[in-house]
Amino acid sequence: MNSSALEKACRVFPGGVNSPVRAFKSVGGNPLFIKKAFGSKVYDVEGREYIDYVGTWGPAVLGHADPDVVAAVCEAARDGLSFGAPTENETALAGLIQQAFPNMEKMRFVSSGTEAAMSAIRLARGFTGRPLIIKCDGAYHGHADSLLVSAGSGVATLGIPGCPGIPDAIAGCTLIIPFNDAAALEACFKAHPGQIAGFIVEPVCGNMGVVLPENDYLKKVAKICGENGALLIFDEVMTGFRACFGGVSRVSGVTPDLTCLGKIAGGGMPLAVYGGRADVMAYIAPDGPVYQAGTLSGNPVAVACGIATLKKITHDETFYRRLEEKSARFEKELGQLASQAGVAAVSNRFGSMMTMFFRSERVKDYSDAKKSDTARFAKWFRLMLNAGIYLAPSQFEAAFVSITHSDSDLDKTLEAAKSSFKKLV
Ligand SMILES: *Cc1c(COP(=O)(O)O)cnc(C)c1O
Repeated sequence: MNSSALEKACRVFPGGVNSPVRAFKSVGGNPLFIKKAFGSKVYDVEGREYIDYVGTWGPAVLGHADPDVVAAVCEAARDGLSFGAPTENETALAGLIQQAFPNMEKMRFVSSGTEAAMSAIRLARGFTGRPLIIKCDGAYHGHADSLLVSAGSGVATLGIPGCPGIPDAIAGCTLIIPFNDAAALEACFKAHPGQIAGFIVEPVCGNMGVVLPENDYLKKVAKICGENGALLIFDEVMTGFRACFGGVSRVSGVTPDLTCLGKIAGGGMPLAVYGGRADVMAYIAPDGPVYQAGTLSGNPVAVACGIATLKKITHDETFYRRLEEKSARFEKELGQLASQAGVAAVSNRFGSMMTMFFRSERVKDYSDAKKSDTARFAKWFRLMLNAGIYLAPSQFEAAFVSITHSDSDLDKTLEAAKSSFKKLV
């Protein structure tokens, strides 16, 4: 499958890929080389069609190549690809984002989620004058040095324990606690008084597979951070605009000090955002001393793509209701099919992102997720791929349903799942 494309790519790229999660290391076989994608389908270089649940790892909530979004991108491109100077459209996109995230009083556009999270923690350190950051075991906030410690999916999939190239002095400034464990957060603050700048958290985890906060976890962590003068940073790069026109902050009613966005916010173009409290953002240059910059930040084509994407979502009042219906049906029926086939599986879902874990007990943190039967997942993944269903090649990733996934797409997927489950037992 695609072996000549992979062979050629391997001559120039490590593993033949430009981001490690794209390789099929943990599931076996070769990655699909994609030629094009429309709506709910991707097409590989051999002309095979797949129903896609990777959704370019999150952004494709409208499906691929939405005609209105593509038209907006083409129009913007004709007026120039990059200016390195402010545009009115950046302010327009910020306005749309503020409708969804009113707590982002001020924001800064960057080009990737990695940059957003990296900049947010630099800001937290600059604002508080403290060195330490807390993150959750198995959470992914991009690949910046400080954040690539116990960093979930990509790293977990490849079984890399720590990452060479990150000096101990830097890794040592990141403290790791389990998700959903407010007492562990409190203990961290007790152990390092006056040293902790902030807690960065995926308020619904997506990068250890989908894991939901339980027992008012988010309210508790907001309170603990506040009491300790540390900033709470919600990394909503994946969750933003995924379940509603907003993020987990909207659904939970918990307001973080800073928020990171990416993926859907850029509609499939390289655009990400960090922002929050105006008094904190005042520390960012040129207003303040914390430096952060980017030649392509607020790129006009990416901004046009973000605006068109968010406008299309807001102009359709039924959008999130329909997306929720599709996703809920998919999760429920998939679970039923697994159980009918006698395959142990549990799923977690937040709106249109979900993970089915191959284990019988609930998953509430990364140590639970890691107890899944990854060999069984790998086998299931390959059976599904052969049946024309493109899932993320890892147990520790989310499957994304888009608005273009039709009933017939879901039926076909469920049928493939049914026969694949049977082959597992
Ligand atoms: C994808 C992701 C990132 C990194 O974004 P990139 O654009 O890939 O750099 C950061 N945080 C979360 C929660 C993500 O899902």
